[in-house]
Amino acid sequence: MAQETAPKVLVIFGTRPEAIKLFPVVQALSATDGLEPIVCVTAQHRAILDQVLEIGQITPDFDLDIMQPDQTLDALTSRLLLKIGAVMDEVKPDRVLVQGDTATAMVGALAAYYRKIPVGHVEAGLRSYNIYHPWPEEVNRKIIGTIADLHFAPTQTSAEALMREAVPKEQVHITGNTVIDALHWVTQRIADNPGLARGLDELKQRFAGKRIIGVTSHRRENFGGGLENIAKAIADLATRDDTALIFPVHPNPNVRAVMDQELKGLSNVAMIEPLDYPHFVHLLELADIMLTDSGGVQEEAPALGKPVLVMRETTERPEGVAAGTAKLVGTDRKAIVGASTALLDDPAAYAAMAQAHNPFGDGHSSARIAKLLFDQHS
Ligand code: UDP
Repeated sequence: MAQETAPKVLVIFGTRPEAIKLFPVVQALSATDGLEPIVCVTAQHRAILDQVLEIGQITPDFDLDIMQPDQTLDALTSRLLLKIGAVMDEVKPDRVLVQGDTATAMVGALAAYYRKIPVGHVEAGLRSYNIYHPWPEEVNRKIIGTIADLHFAPTQTSAEALMREAVPKEQVHITGNTVIDALHWVTQRIADNPGLARGLDELKQRFAGKRIIGVTSHRRENFGGGLENIAKAIADLATRDDTALIFPVHPNPNVRAVMDQELKGLSNVAMIEPLDYPHFVHLLELADIMLTDSGGVQEEAPALGKPVLVMRETTERPEGVAAGTAKLVGTDRKAIVGASTALLDDPAAYAAMAQAHNPFGDGHSSARIAKLLFDQHS
């Protein structure tokens, strides 16, 4: 148990990907004598955040329950700032820890800065160099990078990006990405208790003998034309007898409406509710190909040797592309169908991409981060 006088580390997160990437860090901090982790969730995503808290065995100390239907970025940002600020005034943490590039993370860093509390940034240094792709995440992470004094970069590439921006070298630590810790932890839990991922059994039966394409799509900058193109490409691929697409649809109503319009009733497409993390990891295991605009999936799929087609114009995770396990296909309907068809029909092309490769970490990132925080504050 941490002593009462132990330095307090306030860990702030609000969305599913942040929770996935921070639950191993909270676990590592809890296991570190001499640090007291305090968890504040904003619930910028509600239901899909709670799924991760449960599997990660995290009970928040503060739950700001910020989510409102159709929230604008202005309203979200201002509510976050007031509520996170109030938590900081109550807790008086010695350090704030945020992850990635969400509004929650950016505002968490800003509120800490206003109080001159030092900020650690998990998954620091990712850059697409285009402030509108991904939007608004590219600017969120740059703001956090300006404020933080401890930058936990997942890779050499991200560390170099920070140093090019004149972040002092001694503040940058290459830790790997904590998503690999989460992936390993959950894979082990499924191995111990296969019941945790049985919910896909019916779909496995329905699509037995077919190639499986796993799909996720939710990026804000694809709202409008991009999502329609993606939906039409999925419909094109679903005309193949040998292929089925399993698509856990993000709860954002903008995504749902488009997908329902284009894909409802197609026999080779299963549009399903968002999966909890063990089931999603199982989908990654089942899939032959992942078609995604998600950031985290670009890190997880290469670790499992699954080719990833990235439906974005740019990526801040060039390591997968460099390793040959990921390909940028954008949101053009023909390009998505063409790249998927090439993988489905050409075994050599498939084999070339389906190499297990793990440029993003060795599964021990969280322990490194906890140690660095301990060293900084002891
Ligand atoms: N994920 C999940 N269930 C799903 C879809 C995704 O648990 O139905 C996980 C996935 O494994 C990855 C993370 O959510 O770790 C990605 O989240 P998202 O695509 O929302 O955000 P991004 O990574 O693009 O920031």
